[in-house]
Amino acid sequence: MIRSTATTSIPKPISREMMSEREFGFDTQQLHAGQVLDTAHRARAVPIYQSTSFVFKDFASAKAINTIDEFGYEYSRTGNPTNEVLEVRIAALEGGSAALSLASGSAAATYAILNVARAGDEIVAARTLYGGTFSLLAHTLPKHGIKTVFVDPDNSDAFKAALTERTRAIWVETIGNPSGNLVDVEAIARIAEAHGIPLIVDNTFATPYLFRPFDHGAAVVVHSATKYIGGHGNSIGGLIVDGGNFNWANGKFPDFTTPDPCYNGMVHWDRWGNYPGIGNFAFVMKARLQYLRDMGACLSPFNAFLLLVGLETLSFRMERQVKTAQHIAEFLAAHDDVAWVNYAGLKDSPYYDLGKRLFPKGSGAIFTFGIKGGEERAARFVEAVKLFSFLANVGDSKSLIVHPATVTHAQLNAEQQKQVGITPELLRLSIGTEDADDLIWDLEQAFASSRG
Ligand SMILES: *Cc1c(COP(=O)(O)O)cnc(C)c1O
Repeated sequence: MIRSTATTSIPKPISREMMSEREFGFDTQQLHAGQVLDTAHRARAVPIYQSTSFVFKDFASAKAINTIDEFGYEYSRTGNPTNEVLEVRIAALEGGSAALSLASGSAAATYAILNVARAGDEIVAARTLYGGTFSLLAHTLPKHGIKTVFVDPDNSDAFKAALTERTRAIWVETIGNPSGNLVDVEAIARIAEAHGIPLIVDNTFATPYLFRPFDHGAAVVVHSATKYIGGHGNSIGGLIVDGGNFNWANGKFPDFTTPDPCYNGMVHWDRWGNYPGIGNFAFVMKARLQYLRDMGACLSPFNAFLLLVGLETLSFRMERQVKTAQHIAEFLAAHDDVAWVNYAGLKDSPYYDLGKRLFPKGSGAIFTFGIKGGEERAARFVEAVKLFSFLANVGDSKSLIVHPATVTHAQLNAEQQKQVGITPELLRLSIGTEDADDLIWDLEQAFASSRG
């Protein structure tokens, strides 16, 4: 066996000491989970460890860190103390066993898939997905032998029908981008479980405040932390969260159960499948040791810090944003210049009942509507808004608007756009924390000045 010479830096995945005295609530955990005061200065804010590397204590410890007989920091590509607080905190909020921070949500999606599938394997995915994830699955991964079958997420049985012996994961978004369609995660999780494969859920639009996929049978959660987790539109970042609930030794995932030559013959399931005090965090450890180490899309500690500051107020922002979104959806639904509104919080939405059942705190704060007058009117409208920002992002504290057909989903051809539900008159709103009346004033003046 060749001894691996690559460097590693493996933080201890979840420090449960503080969490063991009491089951703390969401608002408490979003402030405190994962932070252990630094022993030198006892800084209240999480310090930014803007350091590429960490000085070894001694020879024996350097060796132990590299064989992972000891958790410790070595090199910030694979682990950093600031990033670790973010990882532990999001794992606590999602109810998972551990998490991995990455440079972007797209890196999180890529590594999560590579972690379960190799050339010849297949993924079954909802066809209503974020444009970048759709393109990854439809175009980029097939060049490397991983094929995706896309199905209609409104029909849970369609996932079942698409499964084959080669399927290695089902992929859905809790709230689809941009259509705001809700997915019956419970029904799809049962299908995945019966087939012995993980359900991977992109929970970006819901956040753990509105929906915790592990409570409903998902095995892995992925986030674009760029959106609500950071919440202030200042940093790109991504996360993979391990549910700690999937048996990777069921015969379908030999990369977990056979010696890994990338890592001196380590068998990931044996090492991380039932770790004292942590349990099963094999998914995150394998992603860290193989893909983060070899491909390197690490999150900057400075961005981890900004995401942590944002995360402190996640529940408060979401509560307000969902409430305002409901208000604005109702305003638009009653407006003469609006052809239709697609928001699961509206009684005539096909997702209303599912929303009430799975999303009792609300169906998110991103939704779409059709403006009368088609693409030309939509173009005038996005140029007329004053408070809403016309840009390609969601989940900011500031309200945002975009025309998906020409911006976020412009890389799809007309047929694919139709499949994912994008039409020329469709506008997507991401509702922020401004005063609801001010947002309505803005929309009203933009309707008036775009009438032409
Ligand atoms: C933005 C987004 C992504 C990609 O995340 P980045 O941080 O932009 O790389 C993935 N999924 C969803 C649902 C998103 O909204």
